[in-house]
Amino acid sequence: MSDKLQWIEQELQNLHDSGLYNQIRTLSSPQGAWLVVDGKRVLNFCSNNYLGLANHPRLVQAAKDAIDKYGIGPAAVRTIAGTMGLHIQLEQRMAAFKGVEDAISFQSGFNANLAVIPALVGRGDLIVSDELNHASIIDGCRLSRAKIERYAHCDVQDLARALREHRSEYNRCLVVTDGVFSMDGDVAPLDEIYRVTQNYDAILMVDDAHGEGVLGRGGRGIVDHYELHGKVDVEVGTLSKAFGVVGGVVAGNAKIVEWLRQRGRPFLFSSAMTVPDVAACLAAVDLLEESTALVDKLWENTRYFKTEMRKLGFDTGQSTTPITPVMLGEAPLAQEFSRKLFDAGVFAMAIGYPTVPRGKARIRVMISASHAQNDLDQGLEAFARVGRQLGVVS
Ligand SMILES: *Cc1c(COP(=O)(O)O)cnc(C)c1O
Repeated sequence: MSDKLQWIEQELQNLHDSGLYNQIRTLSSPQGAWLVVDGKRVLNFCSNNYLGLANHPRLVQAAKDAIDKYGIGPAAVRTIAGTMGLHIQLEQRMAAFKGVEDAISFQSGFNANLAVIPALVGRGDLIVSDELNHASIIDGCRLSRAKIERYAHCDVQDLARALREHRSEYNRCLVVTDGVFSMDGDVAPLDEIYRVTQNYDAILMVDDAHGEGVLGRGGRGIVDHYELHGKVDVEVGTLSKAFGVVGGVVAGNAKIVEWLRQRGRPFLFSSAMTVPDVAACLAAVDLLEESTALVDKLWENTRYFKTEMRKLGFDTGQSTTPITPVMLGEAPLAQEFSRKLFDAGVFAMAIGYPTVPRGKARIRVMISASHAQNDLDQGLEAFARVGRQLGVVS
C-alpha cells in the first residue's frame, strides 16, 4: 500500500534542495539585544521587539502582579464567561493612545484580520487590496468571500483604476493595506490612499502591525504619522511587535468595533488574551505615554545602521523604517550569508519564497531601541566581513 503522506516527504525534500527549508533556532534566553541561540551568545538582528519591551522589567512586574490578583486564563470566550475588567481597560487605553473612538482586543494581529475583514464585507462586495499585503489580510479577504481585486504595490494610480473599473459592480467596498510592509520596510502612502478612497464610498482599513509603537508621535502609529485622525475607519494593530507581548487590536470607528463584539468570529469563538498578556500591554501603554525616549532611540539606531550599511555598499531596498532588508537575490546565497553571520555571532535570518517573491531573497535586519551603539557597530563589522567573503560587496 502506498504511503498517503509520502508527498509531504517529497515536498520537504524540495524545500531543502531549493534553500527554502525553515531551520528554526532554539533560544535559551529572554528576548533582547543579545540572545543565547542553540547555546551560543549572539547579537539579535531578527526580532520585532522594536522597543525592547519583550523583557522590560515594568512589563514583567505588571504581569506578575496581575497573575497574583486575577490568575492566568480567561476560561472561556468573553461573550459566555464574561469579560475581565483588565481587557476593557486595555481597550480603552489603546483607543485613547491612538486617538480613536473605540478599540477591541484579539488573541493576535492575525486573528484581528480574520475577524474584521469578513465582518465588514461578504459575497457581492468588493475588496481592493495591495498586492504585497500580509498573509493574514489575504486570508481574511478569502474568508470573507468578497471579490478581491489587487492593486500594484503602493501604487495609488492603480488603486484608483481598480476602484474606477470595479466599484460600481459591487455592494460594499473595503480598501485595505499594510501600514508598514513587513518584508520591505516601506510605508503605504495612506494620505493619498485616503484621498482616492474617499470618492468611492469605501471603508478604509490599514494593518499597522509594524507601525504601532514605531511610527507617529511617540509610536501612535501610521494614522498619527499622516495626521489622518478620524479618516481611517479601521486600524488593525498587534501587541506582539513593538509592544513586546502578544495580542491584536482593532481600533477606529465605534460602530465597527461594536459590530466586531457581535460578529467578529475570533472574538465570539476563541478565548481572549491571557491576564499576564493584558497586564503587560497596559504597562507598555504606560511607558509609551510617559516618554518618547524608546521610540526616539529606535529611530536614532535605525538611521545610523542604514546609513552605515549603504556606505558599505549593501542594497537595503525601499525601507524607510527600522525594518532593514539586505537584498541578496537567490535564496541559497541568503541562507549562506545568514549562516556565516551566525558563525560571526550575529543572528539575522534569511527570508525567501513564499514570504518574499522568488529571486528577492534577503537578510532582514530588525533594529531595536535595545541595541547599544556598540552592538550596531559589531553587527556592521560582521556584515562587512561576510559581505566581502561572499562577494556581495567589495
Ligand atoms: C506580524 C503581522 C501580523 C500578525 O500579528 P500577530 O499579532 O503576530 O499575529 C499581521 N499583520 C501584519 C502586517 C504583520 O506584520
